[in-house]
Amino acid sequence: MTTQEKIIYLDYHSTTPVDSRVAEKVMYYMTTAFGNANSVDHGYGNQAAQVVKQARQHIAELINASIKEIIFTSGATESINLAIQGHISQLNTPATIIVSPVEHKAVLDTCKVLAKKGLAEIIWLNVNQQAQIDLEHLEKVCSRGASLLCVMAANNEVGTIYPVEKIGAIAQKYNIPFLCDASQAVGKIPLNFQGWGITYLAISGHKLYASKGVGALVVKKGYPLEPLIYGGGHEQGLRSGTLNVPGIAGLGEACRLRQLEMSADENAIALLRDQLQSLLQTEIPNLVINGDLNNRLSGNLHISIPDIPNSAIIAKVRHQLAISTGAACSSGIVAPSHALQAMNLADNIIEGALRIGIGKFTTKGEIEKASSAIVSAINEIHQLL
Ligand code: PLP
Repeated sequence: MTTQEKIIYLDYHSTTPVDSRVAEKVMYYMTTAFGNANSVDHGYGNQAAQVVKQARQHIAELINASIKEIIFTSGATESINLAIQGHISQLNTPATIIVSPVEHKAVLDTCKVLAKKGLAEIIWLNVNQQAQIDLEHLEKVCSRGASLLCVMAANNEVGTIYPVEKIGAIAQKYNIPFLCDASQAVGKIPLNFQGWGITYLAISGHKLYASKGVGALVVKKGYPLEPLIYGGGHEQGLRSGTLNVPGIAGLGEACRLRQLEMSADENAIALLRDQLQSLLQTEIPNLVINGDLNNRLSGNLHISIPDIPNSAIIAKVRHQLAISTGAACSSGIVAPSHALQAMNLADNIIEGALRIGIGKFTTKGEIEKASSAIVSAINEIHQLL
């Protein structure tokens, strides 16, 4: 057994293990049915094209979109870039982008680069201490008109779930295209692409038990985009390059399974999260739970132990537990989380923040062990203070 196998994995927001049923499908399309989906003069190509079509169908069903609206990409970062840059490029005037400050860096950095180049002006939304958006302010800002609105479906740090339907209705009322980064939400909560006024929706395979390096951008019919990548004109000319057939087959299978199992899995995950939360609350009286407790991803437990730096706890538990101080893309950089800062949390809450992500492979035994590991670490640190 390797060290990795012994460590309890509680970082499901950063990535998920691939479901073995998905991996089997991926393997089959890598080794046996390895054809190029665009080389259909023979059975290999036909079989590849067939699974890509099937994957579109499964994704479309999970989020209520049409198969023609699904564009395969390498993941949510690319999908977001395609939506924002592709949308802005085909406008004739400088863009105004309304952005939530707690978005993932894939959204924030793309918008900031456009702003730096003088191609866009950013209008920031207001968020409260639970990372919820001020909808009155959103409406006010939208009423002045804009080129694009970017609000995620669920937050990757504190797990806050956004009222996407209401946000989409406001965007539609003022005729503003709406990009919803649903990386953390697809397969966890119900989503309705066509019914909720979403124009662009970003999906990431590795957040829903499929593999890394595959994702999709769902594009509403009638919204032209300028591609980022040119070549063979794949994916309706929006994303050239030979399709990642194994990855796409896996993403399709993962979406099919989520459709069938999401509700039962997420209920079980919420029970485990609540159990861990109450175990920790009992043992750590000053524990703070971050995020919107009434609208939170079932697998999210975002805590702060005020005045104990998160790095001290991580150092003590890392040989037993895989938990995180924040978003994976930023955690290599020693900088406070931009999302927690935008939520205007106190410095000692931000410095003590830990993100715990529970998923469908987490067991009750692991939750109990995780709780005692965290509690022991905190007790040891208290003794040193
Ligand atoms: N958006 C959110 C909310 C995420 O959590 C992530 C992953 O960390 C991304 C975008 C980027 O996704 P990908 O790794 O597929 O590029």
